[in-house]
Amino acid sequence: MAYKIDENTCIACGTCIGECPQGAISEGDFYVIDPAVCIGCGTCADVCPMGAIAPEE
Ligand code: SF4
Ligand code: SF4
Repeated sequence: MAYKIDENTCIACGTCIGECPQGAISEGDFYVIDPAVCIGCGTCADVCPMGAIAPEE
């Protein structure tokens, strides 16, 4: 299952990008996870200081 970033909670610190083993997170107008690339490992959610990342429902 892919993970998703809550753009209203994200403070754009950039921590998650460096921790994703798949390179699934990109920085545009908002930080976003590509669901086609994300393997659902949860690493990004573990490192996010804001708790902005969660499994996509
Ligand atoms: S769950 Fe894992 S693969 Fe998916 S975006 Fe987060 S760190 Fe990357
Ligand atoms: S680690 Fe969390 S707060 Fe930081 S850029 Fe990623 S989603 Fe946003």
